[in-house]
This record gives sequence, C-alpha cells and structure tokens, in this order.
Amino acid sequence: MTLSEIRAILAEEHLQLTKSLGQNFLHDHNQLCRIVEAAELTPEDSVMEIGPGLGPLTELLLQRAGRVTAIEKDRRLCEVLRTRLENRPGFDLLHGDALEYLESESRNWNDWKVVSNLPYSVGSPILVALAEAPKPPRMLVVTLQWEVIQRLRASPGTKDYGILSLLIQGIYQPDHFFKIPSGCFFPQPDIDSGCIRLLRRDPPLLTPEELPQFKKVVKRSFSQRRKKMLKLLRADWPEQVVNEASARAGISPLARAESVSLEQFIKLSRLLHGWTPVSMNRGFRRAELHEAPTRKTWDSQGMSLRGSGSQSATSESSRLPMNPIPASSQDEVFDVVNDRDEVVGQKTRREVHELGLNHRAVHILVFNRAGQVFLQKRSMLKDRFPGAWDSSASGHVDAGEDYDTAARRELLEELGWSPPRGLQRLFKIDACIDTDQEFIWIYRCEGEGPFELKPDEIERGDWFDPAHVTRWITAQPRDFASGFSRLWREWIEHFSNSISA
Ligand code: SAM
Repeated sequence: MTLSEIRAILAEEHLQLTKSLGQNFLHDHNQLCRIVEAAELTPEDSVMEIGPGLGPLTELLLQRAGRVTAIEKDRRLCEVLRTRLENRPGFDLLHGDALEYLESESRNWNDWKVVSNLPYSVGSPILVALAEAPKPPRMLVVTLQWEVIQRLRASPGTKDYGILSLLIQGIYQPDHFFKIPSGCFFPQPDIDSGCIRLLRRDPPLLTPEELPQFKKVVKRSFSQRRKKMLKLLRADWPEQVVNEASARAGISPLARAESVSLEQFIKLSRLLHGWTPVSMNRGFRRAELHEAPTRKTWDSQGMSLRGSGSQSATSESSRLPMNPIPASSQDEVFDVVNDRDEVVGQKTRREVHELGLNHRAVHILVFNRAGQVFLQKRSMLKDRFPGAWDSSASGHVDAGEDYDTAARRELLEELGWSPPRGLQRLFKIDACIDTDQEFIWIYRCEGEGPFELKPDEIERGDWFDPAHVTRWITAQPRDFASGFSRLWREWIEHFSNSISA
C-alpha cells in the first residue's frame, strides 16, 4: 500500500487519524517486507497482528501465513479493513482493545507468532502482557519507537537497561533488529522507529508461577534508579533476608539495580520467594524473645557446646525458606497417598512437591528425664526451611516404607541414635497446606543422647523446656518449620495439660 493509496482511502472514508491511538501508518514497501521477512513465515504459521490499521502489513502476512488474526481498536478502521480483506481465507478481524483482550483471554498462544506495527502509546504494556501470558507466543516481530527497541535489548550497566528489559528478557531472547526512519510513516512522527525480533526462550528461564515475584523484585529494585538496590528491597522484605539472599545471588550490597544481571534477578527473586513482604505483614517481629539455652547444646559434629545459645535469634527469624534441592534428592521416590492416606502411586520428590500431592512423613520428639524436648536447628543447606528449628528428627517416608520404620530410620540417620525404650505413636496430622501436603505421624521417645547430628541436615540441637518452646513459637513463629509449629500446637492441646503459653 503506497502513501497515495493511504491518502485516497482516508479521504474517501472521511477518516481523521487519532493521535492517541498511535495511528502512524507504515507505507514504505521495503520496510514492510523486511518486517515480514524477519518473521520467517510459512503456510503452517498462525499470526496475531495488533493494530492492523488500513492493513498494509496484514496483506503481506496473509500472503505468507496460513492464518492471521488481527485486533483493531478503531471501529472505523475495522470497517475499512473488513471491506478490503473480508473474504481472504484464514483472516479473522476482532474489534477491541488488544491489551484488554490479552489480559482477559487465557488462550494458548504457544504456537503463534505476533507480527505488528504496534500502537506506540500502549506498545510496552502489550509486550509485557504477551510475555506474561500463561502460554506466550513463540516469536514477536514488533515495530516500536527506536528508544523502546533499545530498552528491549539493553544489557546491564547501560542507561536503557531497566524494568522493561528484564520483564521481556525473562521470557524472550532479543534477536534481530533494524531501524526504520520516521519518513516511512504517515503522518510522519517526530522520532525514528525500529523493528525487533524476540524469540521465546525454550526452556523458559522463569515459570509462569515465578513471574509475579520476579516482577515485584525488579519493580522495587528500579523504583529509584539512583539508590542502592538492597536499601529499596528492605521496604518489602526483612533486612537480613535481603542481605543474605543478595549475597547468595552474587549481588554487592552497594549495587544499583542497573548493574544487576537478569540471571542475578532471577536467583534473587527465587531466594526471596516465600517471604511475606514486610509492608503486608506489619506484625513481623525479630526474635529477641528467644532466651539463650542454658543446657547442653550439640553442634553438627556431635560436640557438646556450652552457651552457644547466644547466637542471635534475629538471624534465625531471617532465615531463607528454601534452598535449591540437589538433583539427587529430587529423584528420591515417595509413596503418593489419597485423602484417606492410602497409597495410590509413586512419584519423585520433585513431582510430589511441584504437583502438591499427598505423601507421608514422620516427626519424632525426644524428651529427657527433666521433661525437656530436644529440638534441632535445620542446616542452612536444607531445601525446606533452612535454619529453622524443628522436631528432634523428622523426614519423609520412603516408597514402600511404613511410618514406624521411617521414624526409627530418621532417628538413626539424623541423630545417630536409637531410643532405648522404643518409640510411642502420639497422634497423626492429616495432609494440609501447613504440612506441605504431608500426612504426619508424631512419635515420642525418651533418652539423654549422646547424639551425633548429621552435619548436612542439622546445624545444631538443644534441649528446651516445652513451656519455653510454646512462648517462643507464639512470639516468633517464623523461627520454626511450619510443620513443627502445627504439630506443637496439637501436642500442647492434647498431651501437655500442665503447660501453658
Ligand atoms: N499496522 C498498521 C500499519 O502498519 O500501518 C497500523 C499501525 S498504527 C502504528 C497502530 C494501530 O493500532 C492503529 O490502527 C490503531 O488504531 C491501533 N490501536 C491503537 N490502540 C490499540 C489497542 N489498544 N488495541 C488494538 N489496536 C489499537
């Protein structure tokens, strides 16, 4: 479609172009061909075009692709386009706002390509909506302001690198791009434009479930570009958590967001996952209420330590909830059970946790002659609740194993110890969110040790008065693994008639 053809249609239809809808039509045939070439179309392809306008690009797309679905917001342009292209096979025209359509339509765009000269006023939000779709299109070939093209492909340390770069690059790999001079459009805009091809990353760097957290971290980090990123993140997460997570993601405490790579942002958002933002949880408190243990403490080498309870409980309350799970542990096989705790199959640890399937676990509480309970502080290397306080010993029931065998095995593996007078079953908790979908049998036994703590699972252990544990849990629930908090509440209710909080 030439410039004079565009002018003729507009005159015939008495159409005034609307600036707020970004109606700058591309009339340069060479540039239109370059855009279509970049999309590498075949008759097997399905293409979505956002903002077809008078249809110069649409016509070329229809020549190459098997199917073209176009979404146009301006009803007047829809009418013109309908008259011009109505009978073309494989063509669908939708009248509406593309942004609203993408946000409301949870369609599977997996095999689609998007090829569009986007309306510049909503170009960035449209791209983000495409990237955030549950099944995003496999390729985007889009024309936008040159400045936006620069932001889409920007690397850390450049002025263009920011929220848009990260939100798009988390899902798409920027690929081929070229500049389009402003004179190729009618009416001619003040700025140059460009076209970029973005290829969906396969496999993805981020899952759809991880995206909201990633977005939150990125947005907060860039909320004030001049400020140190860790300071900004403290508005949403506890300081110790931010410091520890950033260190583990390899981010300097002095870093500004513009110097942090996509990979570091992804790692950081995973490490921060599970923490309720401080602003949403004003009740979050530090662990100053945790009194120093007065009795014998074990470290993971099985050595007795006196006075080691002076370790600040603040660091415990700031523990990170998850560590990456080593591949070998991911492959452990568990029995999957139904709501009546009957075995219905077997799956790997990874599948059981990812799919939220019911499975089995045991917790053992060891009491000494003085009535104190032995608790272990989980190693920082654990994938679930690193650094949190937990039962004396606990663990999953292996595939084909029964609860009692698992309880004896866990005591031996974690504490290097067998109870001289055997184990007593106390009560059972049904699978629920609090227990990570575990049916848990709780056992009790008596003994004084000595224990040999398994170093890669347990940082240290200590004897506590049950009343002290109850006060501590009430004040500092985050110091404990959630399954333990749940079982402790039930234990207090049913078995410790003399203990009050
Ligand atoms: N594709 C045509 C071309 O290359 O000449 C027109 C491109 S023009 C830059 C952008 C088009 O998007 C206009 O036709 C405008 O009416 C349409 N548009 C603007 N906002 C829209 C929205 N939210 N949803 C769908 N179309 C929109």
